[in-house]
Parts: sequence; structure tokens; C-alpha cells
Amino acid sequence: MNIILMGLPGAGKGTQADQIVEKYNIPHISTGDMFRAAIQEGTELGIKAKAYMDQGALVPDEVTVGIVRERLSKSDCEKGFLLDGFPRTVPQAEALDELLADMDRQIEHVLNIEVEQDELVKRLTGRRICKVCGTSYHLQFNPPKVEGKCDKDGGELYQREDDNPETVKNRLEVNMTQTAPLLAFYNAKGVLANVDGQQDIDDVFKALDEILQKDGQ
Ligand code: ADP
Ligand code: ADP
Repeated sequence: MNIILMGLPGAGKGTQADQIVEKYNIPHISTGDMFRAAIQEGTELGIKAKAYMDQGALVPDEVTVGIVRERLSKSDCEKGFLLDGFPRTVPQAEALDELLADMDRQIEHVLNIEVEQDELVKRLTGRRICKVCGTSYHLQFNPPKVEGKCDKDGGELYQREDDNPETVKNRLEVNMTQTAPLLAFYNAKGVLANVDGQQDIDDVFKALDEILQKDGQ
């Protein structure tokens, strides 16, 4: 199953992706996670991406498309994949179509998680992430069992540098402008489904899963 998860920053893509990939046994491909890993490793890609990410701006399309092309060519993607945070612009979506066509494949589902802006700001500024496995928590909405520690592996929780109120504002603005044409692009292809993201985490998952199951896979 070839799936794209869409939604503004903080909509719950990472949180839902964890559950979807577990159930459907496909790799979770998050461009944000890939850039953060490259920054940690200090690679050339990381150095390039960091300058944009610190501002809440988008990394240039050619760089982003390049890392996705490389990732999708790996053998674990043969049975399908879940893209999270990519594409974010129409040129990225067009590039994705081309590279999938070269592999005789196409996107089957675009799941768009909808959440109001005020709620997004609260979610992003209260988000905490496990240093070890990347699982997202929230100080109020989804706290870990033990303060500051991941439920899964006990890893230390940290706050992403770009989850501060100023950068959050910019990220939401940048992403909102890019999102509408992208939704229109996938709606025209008949693969778009909108889901109410302002429900409990498990109810959002149920709604997403119903859409995935409808097609009998
Ligand atoms: P994204 O990957 O779309 O940026 P995350 O999955 O990291 O979003 O979620 C953003 C924040 O909101 C996290 O702190 C997460 O724990 C919290 N969150 C996710 N889904 C919900 C939900 N349905 N209700 C309340 N908080 C949520
Ligand atoms: P969010 O929680 O804001 O959805 P991500 O972890 O997906 O964050 O992305 C963090 C940052 O990585 C973005 O603000 C942007 O700088 C960069 N990034 C991630 N995906 C893309 C993409 N598809 N195109 C351009 N930049 C990207």
C-alpha cells in the first residue's frame, strides 16, 4: 500500500504513522526525521538542511526529492510505504509521481489530517520527543507514564529546536500556503481523504484505518 500522510505541522502525522506502519507492516518515511538524523550525523545534507529548518522554512525541493528518491529505491519499500511530511509542494508531488511511474507504481491513498490552527500551536509547543526512538508525546494531551521518559524504551524526552512559538508561527504560515494547491492536486486524482484530527488519538487512527481498509488493500 502506497500512502501519503498529510496535515499541517502538529496535526498528528508522526503519532498516527507509528500505528499505521505497525498494522500494515510498511516503512515510515519522514523527511523531517531524515533531515534531523542527517543533522545529528553532521553530514553535508544535514548542514544544508539545518539552515532552513532553524528558520521554519522548507528545505529546497531538489534536496528533498533527492533523499526521497534514494529512500524509495530501497527493497523494504517494495510492499508499500507511508510518506510523512513529503510532498509539501506541488513540484515535489510532481517529482514523486514521476519517480513512482518509473517504478510502475502510484499513490493509492492521501490521508489528510485536519486540525485548527490554535490547536496546532498548543500541540507543537507542548510536544516532547524521545531521543532514542522519536516517539512524540505531549505535556498535557499525551504525557508519558514517567515524566521526561519514553514509555517504550525509557529514552530521554527533548523539545525540538523548531517547536518554539516563533518558529512554529512561521512553519504554520509556510505550510498553509503550500498545502491548498497540494490538496487540490491529489483531490483531482481521486485519492484524497480528509479526516478530523481533533479527536482522541485512537479515534483518529480508527478513521484513517477505515479508509485504508475500504479498498480491501
Ligand atoms: P506531526 O508529525 O503532524 O507534526 P505529531 O504526531 O508529532 O505531529 O503530534 C504533534 C503533537 O500533538 C505531539 O505532542 C502529540 O503528542 C500531540 N498529538 C497528536 N495527536 C493528537 C491528538 N489527536 N490529540 C491531542 N494531541 C495530539
Ligand atoms: P513538522 O512537525 O513541522 O511537520 P517535520 O519534522 O516534518 O515537521 O519537518 C521539520 C522541518 O524539516 C520542516 O520545517 C522543513 O524545514 C523540513 N522538511 C521536512 N519535510 C520537508 C519537505 N517535504 N520539503 C521541504 N522541507 C521539509
